[in-house]
Amino acid sequence: MFNKMSITDIDVSGQRVFCRVDFNVPLDEQRNITDDTRIRAALPTIRYLLEQGARLILASHLGRPKGKVDPAYSLAPAATHLQGLLGKPVRMASDCIGDQVKAQIAQLADGEVILLENVRFYPGETDNDPQFAAELAALADLYVNDAFGTAHRAHASTEGVARLLKPAVAGFLMEKELKYLGEALANPERPFVAIIGGAKVSDKILVIEQLLEKVDSILIGGGMAYTFLKAQGIATGTSLLEADRVELAKKLLAQAESRGVEFLLPQDHIVAAEFKADSSAQTCGNTDFPADRMALDIGPQTIKLYRQKIASAKTVVWNGPMGVFEFDAFARGTFAIAEALAASDCLSIIGGGDSVAAVNKAGLDAEMTHISTGGGASLEFLEGKELPGVVALTDR
Ligand code: ADP
Ligand code: MG
Repeated sequence: MFNKMSITDIDVSGQRVFCRVDFNVPLDEQRNITDDTRIRAALPTIRYLLEQGARLILASHLGRPKGKVDPAYSLAPAATHLQGLLGKPVRMASDCIGDQVKAQIAQLADGEVILLENVRFYPGETDNDPQFAAELAALADLYVNDAFGTAHRAHASTEGVARLLKPAVAGFLMEKELKYLGEALANPERPFVAIIGGAKVSDKILVIEQLLEKVDSILIGGGMAYTFLKAQGIATGTSLLEADRVELAKKLLAQAESRGVEFLLPQDHIVAAEFKADSSAQTCGNTDFPADRMALDIGPQTIKLYRQKIASAKTVVWNGPMGVFEFDAFARGTFAIAEALAASDCLSIIGGGDSVAAVNKAGLDAEMTHISTGGGASLEFLEGKELPGVVALTDR
C-alpha cells in the first residue's frame, strides 16, 4: 500500500534537505498567526531532520499572492513563530530561488534551518514550471515532502522538484496522514461507518461513490441531506436543494441498496425561517416539514440514531458538518457527532476543513484518532484519487 521512502530510510547528516511543509497559516490584520496547527504538525519532521544533522531548507506557500512578490504574503511571521516553537534560530531567506538564497543556504551548518520565502511569489510554482522546479532543486541534495495539505496539487515545490531531487521521501506528517486514511480505506475494522455532511451533494459525490464500495453504513447530514430526502419524495421546505442532483441522489440510494450498504438520512430536523444566527429554531420530522422553513441542523431523533451507529462502529470516517455549526443554535447535531466519536472506542478519522474546525470548536480534537491537516487533500484521497505530491516520491 504505502510503498514510498520515508525520512527514516535515508541519511541526511550534512546534507542540504529541501523540505516542503504546509505553513499556509491564517494571519490577522497585524500579521499575527491566529492558528499554528499546521506549523506544529510539521515539528516532528523538522526536529528529526535537525537532530540528524541536516542543513534544513523549509519551503511553503502562504495564501494566494498570484505569482508575484507581495509582502502581505511573506512567510516571515512563520519563521519567527517556528523559532519560538523550536527554541533555536530560524533564518528567513530573502527569496525562494536565486544566487542570494544559495549564498544564505551555504552559510547553514549541520542542524541549522532556513525558511524560504513564499514559493507562490513565482507563477512557476502553481504552473509546475520545470525551469522553476529546477531552480528549487538546485538549492538542495535531497527532497522531503511533509505538506500533506498540498499533496493533491501538482505544483513545482510539491511535484516538479520531487522528480528532480532524489531520493524524494515522505516526512512523518505525510506518512501519518497516508497511514490513517489509507489503512481505513484498505483494511478497515468493521463495522465501518462513514458520516458525510456539509453543504452540497455535488462537492461529495465522488467520496460517497467511493465509500459505498467500502463501508457498512453511511450517515448523511448537513445541507446535502435535503437533496437525498427530496429524492425519496419527502417535502423539505426551503432547505438547501440541488434540483439538478436529485436524479443522482436517487442513483446513489439505489447503489447503496444493491450493495447492501445501510444509507441513513435525517429523520428529524432543526428548522428556521431564515439562514441567520438568531433565527428562531423549531423541530420537525419528515412528515410534518413546514413549507416555509429550512433545515439548518439534524434533530434529536437523528442524533440518537447516529449516536448508536457510532457507538457500535469500529472505524469511522467523518467528512462534513451535520448542520450550520457556525451558528450556535444549529451546532448541536455536529457537536453531538463529535461527542459520540469521542465516547466510542472506534478508530475515528476526521477530514475536511469545516469538520475539523467543528471538532476543534467542540474541544474534542484530542479525543479523535486522526484529524487530517489537509481538507482538499483528504477529500481527494477519500475519492480514491492519487495525490501527485505522493506519486512523485521515490518508491521503497
Ligand atoms: P468540510 O469542509 O468539512 O468538507 P463542507 O465544506 O462540505 O465541509 O461543508 C461545510 C459547510 O456546510 C458549513 O459551512 C455549514 O454551515 C454548511 N452546512 C451544513 N449544514 C447545512 C444546512 N443544513 N444548510 C446549509 N448549509 C449547511
Ligand atoms: Mg469546507
